[in-house]
Amino acid sequence: MLHSFQLNGYNIIMDVNSGAVHVVDEMVYDMVQLLDASFLANSFDSNTSEKLEKEYPASVFAPLEARYDRAALEEAYGEIYEMYENGQLFTSDDYEQFADMMVSAPIKAMCLNVAHDCNLRCSYCFAAQGDFGGGRKLMTAEVGKKAIDYLLKYSANRHNLEMDFFGGEPLMAFDVVKEVVEYARSKEKEYNKNFRFTITTNGLLLTDDKIDFINKEMHNVVLSIDGRKEVNDRMRFHVDGSGCYDQIMPKFQKLVKARGDGQYYVRGTFTKFNKDFAEDVLHFYEKGFDQISIEPVVTDPKLPYALTEEDLPEVFAEYERLAKIIIEKRKNGEFFNFFHFMIDLDQGPCAIKRLRGCGCGNEYVSVTPEGDVYPCHQFVGKPEWIMGSVHDQSLNTEIKDSFAKTTVYTKPECKNCWAKFYCSGGCNANNLEYAGSIKKPYKVACELEKKRLECAIMIKAALAD
Ligand code: SF4
Ligand code: SF4
Ligand code: SF4
Repeated sequence: MLHSFQLNGYNIIMDVNSGAVHVVDEMVYDMVQLLDASFLANSFDSNTSEKLEKEYPASVFAPLEARYDRAALEEAYGEIYEMYENGQLFTSDDYEQFADMMVSAPIKAMCLNVAHDCNLRCSYCFAAQGDFGGGRKLMTAEVGKKAIDYLLKYSANRHNLEMDFFGGEPLMAFDVVKEVVEYARSKEKEYNKNFRFTITTNGLLLTDDKIDFINKEMHNVVLSIDGRKEVNDRMRFHVDGSGCYDQIMPKFQKLVKARGDGQYYVRGTFTKFNKDFAEDVLHFYEKGFDQISIEPVVTDPKLPYALTEEDLPEVFAEYERLAKIIIEKRKNGEFFNFFHFMIDLDQGPCAIKRLRGCGCGNEYVSVTPEGDVYPCHQFVGKPEWIMGSVHDQSLNTEIKDSFAKTTVYTKPECKNCWAKFYCSGGCNANNLEYAGSIKKPYKVACELEKKRLECAIMIKAALAD
């Protein structure tokens, strides 16, 4: 299976199964399109290595002979044939066999919802303004410690374990965060584990003490803010409706400055109201942040700020604009990471992660203040998805196994999608919420994902020039 596209003056051909990316001239590009069309017309599917003949297939290329010199065409065909012989073009799909062998894995990551409460009331909050629709409550330290025991119990021989303190707003339960961290550290030696903590915060309650603790104990920090003041304050506001930008921006700057080389990222959401979100990325950069994530809002398409199919052309154009800005900055020696343009093309598809994606419900679970275990934070509030409890340390292996076996090959639309090894089948929670099934991709999210991938590949091509 191939994916060919032209962007920013580059002709790019991706061989999906091998992960090889080729930047080619127009003649080779046109030629590969004709070959691909001819294979498709002859009903080769993605599981079949498409057979290329060594001899120049004049009948297939007849349309090109009006535009290009025959000798040049034959030479170009020689290049194409070489890529094919090297296993970089028209390769077969060898990954489906791994998908059939997918088994349940140890749990290695947990999202600990220490607060089902929040001091903001963001319009787009997936957590129903912090309480997940189940009433405002904070986790006790006792439940938090039982969650650590749960992770120790189900992580088998995994050495590195991840825990994300999440909410709502986790700083509202900061004493619990501290106790849980202390408890986990006290168990590391006995169980031969290394806990890597992350905290995701809206920043309002940050103080110098909390910054010190976070920078000492947290392996990663996610700082929620949407970008420019007017953009942020339109969607992220206090209970009284006033915006939060002026309070949080200096705190985030302080935290990041004190953090040195430690991992962090500022994480924003863009909506229909700021389709010029590249400006928000640049705003972050100007404010001193170099690890930047801004994601499209995924919400009920009827809401006024929702991104819908009609917004796609504008959003695509903005991704392209941002990609060009990033190329220009890198060429001028400036650097920031935009997370959604990060792609690893060098290692080729690595089977399990690429087929299964985020690992929710299998390697990753979420725990609520009550101690219920869910496949991930975005399933919280849907009781039919409860898969265990930290109180009796129970785990529903049926649900876990079904997530373990959910791969791009069990999602019919993903199976034939060129982006499958990078997207890994999208977000299961969003699929369920907005397309009605974990196995049915949410179209708007798919189109955005594919555009980001194209931009990411093009950036690599441009920077390799
Ligand atoms: S800060 Fe997060 S949890 Fe709180 S209302 Fe905003 S999006 Fe929801
Ligand atoms: S979720 Fe969408 S973009 Fe991702 S692999 Fe499936 S069809 Fe492709
Ligand atoms: S299902 Fe979606 S929200 Fe949940 S962990 Fe996976 S990617 Fe994240």
